[in-house]
Amino acid sequence: MSTLTNIKDLDQEALTAFLGQHGFPSFRYQQIMDWLYQKWCADFKAMSNLPKDLQELLVGHFRASSLQVENTQQAEDGTIKWLCRLADGETIETVLIPAPERSTVCISTQVGCAVRCAFCASGKQGLVRNLSRSEIVDQVLLACRCQNKKITNVVVMGMGEPMHNLENLLPALELLSAPGVFGLGARHITVSTSGVVAGIRALADCGRAWNLAISLHATSDEQRSRIIPPQYRCPIADILSACEYFRKRTNRMPTLEYALLAGINDRAEDATQLAHLARQFHAKVNLIPCNDGTARYQAPTPAHCRQFLELLLRFGTQATLRLRKGGSIQAACGQLRQQNQPPAQGSHSPS
Ligand code: SF4
Repeated sequence: MSTLTNIKDLDQEALTAFLGQHGFPSFRYQQIMDWLYQKWCADFKAMSNLPKDLQELLVGHFRASSLQVENTQQAEDGTIKWLCRLADGETIETVLIPAPERSTVCISTQVGCAVRCAFCASGKQGLVRNLSRSEIVDQVLLACRCQNKKITNVVVMGMGEPMHNLENLLPALELLSAPGVFGLGARHITVSTSGVVAGIRALADCGRAWNLAISLHATSDEQRSRIIPPQYRCPIADILSACEYFRKRTNRMPTLEYALLAGINDRAEDATQLAHLARQFHAKVNLIPCNDGTARYQAPTPAHCRQFLELLLRFGTQATLRLRKGGSIQAACGQLRQQNQPPAQGSHSPS
């Protein structure tokens, strides 16, 4: 793929100045934006209301997309996973989860991940690099283009710890939220984190009502230490205080993501403690049976998962047991990885 700059990495001032330098009026800027963000077009030559010489100019100076789809897999439940090659040869995975009333795209923010959660394929080889603003946005536009319809929800739960790449994620989410650009309502965007306290506070300070999901996965710091290595693991008490700050700034309730791991965090006392934490966090709980096929971690049986849910509900906790989507194509929780990695052992919080 060419090493040209992605046109989405230019802001309005820079692109308008570029157009002016080449003798094109500033109204062409909005036409280009409409093609990119409203029609999800990734080919300058298909931008039919632009003059041919402007199309050629854009082709010679920019890329319209950073992603080249190398492989597409579709699961029986309709979930689609794309393996995409980036301009420097690295690969990422992006997942589309269609449903009758909505369609959700689960996007990646990094190639690899430094956190290295024990059950997760994305972190297995550590962090390779952060994705740029345009590489993040292009995943959403790819999903729209491929299904020929605007997606309704974005979950930042793919490869990478989103809070470790806020520098590019926040401008990407601003573009996706901006009314004159992509125009996705704040409540349709969810950012998930393994509990990076500084990132939760920074997200709160943006003043946007984006949703926050915390990948808790354990009910004590000791239990969490068996799942998340120490370098990037924050104490639950600190995560709680950051979430309180988030709730005060945004008026939004976080969600606690809890991957059910058989024999690790699925006992009745874990449900009791999780209900207690959910009350403290003012949070609802999403239970996700950890995906099969891992050597070290297995999902509890479906009956056991339902019992765990029942216990939470009995304590008055708002909780759901998430259906596993895309398991047959390794597009579910903890399964996104780079192409050159071995089969998944276990991305972020679940798609
Ligand atoms: S679960 Fe999320 S934070 Fe943990 S290693 Fe995977 S991608 Fe990184």
